[in-house]
Amino acid sequence: MNRSPFIDPELCRRCGACCKSFEIDYSRNLDPIDLSEIERIKALVGFGDRVTTREDEDTISLVINIPCRYLVEEEGLYSCQVYDDPQRRPLMCEHFPYASSSAVDCPHMQRGKR
Ligand code: SF4
Ligand code: SF4
Repeated sequence: MNRSPFIDPELCRRCGACCKSFEIDYSRNLDPIDLSEIERIKALVGFGDRVTTREDEDTISLVINIPCRYLVEEEGLYSCQVYDDPQRRPLMCEHFPYASSSAVDCPHMQRGKR
């Protein structure tokens, strides 16, 4: 599912978790006006409880629990229909998981594997 240095393709279990939800991270250092952006986006996308927030000490993350349209499942394993199409597959997908990712984002990532 990725070309990230934090997971070897052999370690990706094709669980599809990284393609079933997406996050936009906001630093708590933003002023209160900018943080209201989170509420504006939640209202804009209009998917009710499919858009939630996750908070930690430094960050408020907008979690959009909507599977990608290119995600396909076959016998419990997920794959990307546009994996080899750089015109359609976002770079953020190619480089996931990131240095800032955790086991919540990808349960199989391993730091320093490659
Ligand atoms: S969450 Fe991790 S293990 Fe699951 S498909 Fe994505 S990269 Fe692979
Ligand atoms: S484009 Fe492919 S890799 Fe990116 S979220 Fe969709 S299914 Fe996953």
